[in-house]
Amino acid sequence: MKFTSYGAAREVTGSKHMIEIGGKKVLFDCGMFQGRRKEAEEKNRNFQFIPSEIDAVVLSHAHIDHSGSLPNLVKQGYKGAIHCTPATHDLCNHMLMDSAYIQERESEYLNEKNRKQGDELIEPIYTQEDATLALEYFKEQKYNEPFEPVPGMKITFREAGHILGAAMLEIEAEGKKIIFTGDLGRKDLPVLRDPYKPENADILITESTYGNRLHESVVEAEDKLGDIINRTIKKGGKVIIPAFALERTQEIVYAIHKLVKSGRVSEDLPVYVDSPLAVNVTEVFRKHKEAYDIETNKIFADNEEDPFGFSMLRYITKVEESKALNHHVGPCIIISASGMCEFGRINHHLKNNIEDHRNTVLIVGYMAENTLGRKILNKEGEVKIFGKPYRLNAEVEVIDSYSGHADRSDLLSFATHLKGLKKIFIVHGEEKAQMEYKKALQQNGFTDIQIPQPGETFEI
Ligand SMILES: [Zn+2]
Repeated sequence: MKFTSYGAAREVTGSKHMIEIGGKKVLFDCGMFQGRRKEAEEKNRNFQFIPSEIDAVVLSHAHIDHSGSLPNLVKQGYKGAIHCTPATHDLCNHMLMDSAYIQERESEYLNEKNRKQGDELIEPIYTQEDATLALEYFKEQKYNEPFEPVPGMKITFREAGHILGAAMLEIEAEGKKIIFTGDLGRKDLPVLRDPYKPENADILITESTYGNRLHESVVEAEDKLGDIINRTIKKGGKVIIPAFALERTQEIVYAIHKLVKSGRVSEDLPVYVDSPLAVNVTEVFRKHKEAYDIETNKIFADNEEDPFGFSMLRYITKVEESKALNHHVGPCIIISASGMCEFGRINHHLKNNIEDHRNTVLIVGYMAENTLGRKILNKEGEVKIFGKPYRLNAEVEVIDSYSGHADRSDLLSFATHLKGLKKIFIVHGEEKAQMEYKKALQQNGFTDIQIPQPGETFEI
């Protein structure tokens, strides 16, 4: 049996890992690389393997850095099943179509430039048509029920506690048990069940995004959120929350709903979710009640209450309604995408609100370097939005405990809990985090630890 990492090897995006067994190739995740434009273009257009030679694909979850290259894989000749949980399938219906739309717009934008400069025109990496075709190959597999993607390999999806539908994989082949974490979540996240803790394994393929960091506790986040909202309302201001359309938006809505329900935030405060993708994704959350944790069921679902809806909450899809929010008078909360403020409606809300000292911009997610979100997080005095400078007078608050990834102590306790563990592969992390996590594992007595280079093959 062989293992090769073709993506998310010494980096955090573009997950693609392969196990070969008895002449069959199984690809685990097929994500897009996100980063500098030229490198992303090269890595996302071409595969380091031949798609038609793959026998099965197993998808851990719907995030684009794990699923986003599937339409290209099918476009380039893959014709087998794409195994995933039912919620992941439903989420990918929206996520892949949205990603295809972005690819189409991106190539249109570049072609405008190319035309002017007399350069050759480019094709989108994939189109909405390609995404529709790829979605036909999806095959739903339930949690905790083993399936055989190829003869001689048995896989069971287990709860990863990372986003709705996310799974970690228990792989049994050639008498060995391999755990592939996918993206490993953390306990106590809103809505989601806590990650499954397997008892034993021979080999662990683990993510390491926060292999060198510890998170704040999720439990305190709710109180902090309530305080920030109430302080801003008192000043007569608005709370602007940039949030990813998938998972973070639903978690924040859920937390606000709990605050309103328990009387900690006024039930008269208008709350707006302004993102068409977030609206579609929230529908998937409503459908998949089977994936909720005990708390969500107890507070909401068991009483047939919608966790993602309450009287003053409005979901906005139409452009005119989004624009009308510019003229909203008085306190409110606006949750909008994109999560890092790089594009989308959030930029209009920031433009209209960051110069007013009564308002608060609340950061609840990761902000990559060089993004507008990072500049706001750094409290730069002046930021550019749509090419124009704006004074950042609004308060900036940060709640970073909503992270959907296990931190170093979660990762360590996951690995040390596994009886019989002999070999560890560290993937999906920046090198610095991986090296520090490796050191921590060594201190816990593990000796056979690999941090694969892209394309490096190991006999396992
Ligand atoms: Zn993820």
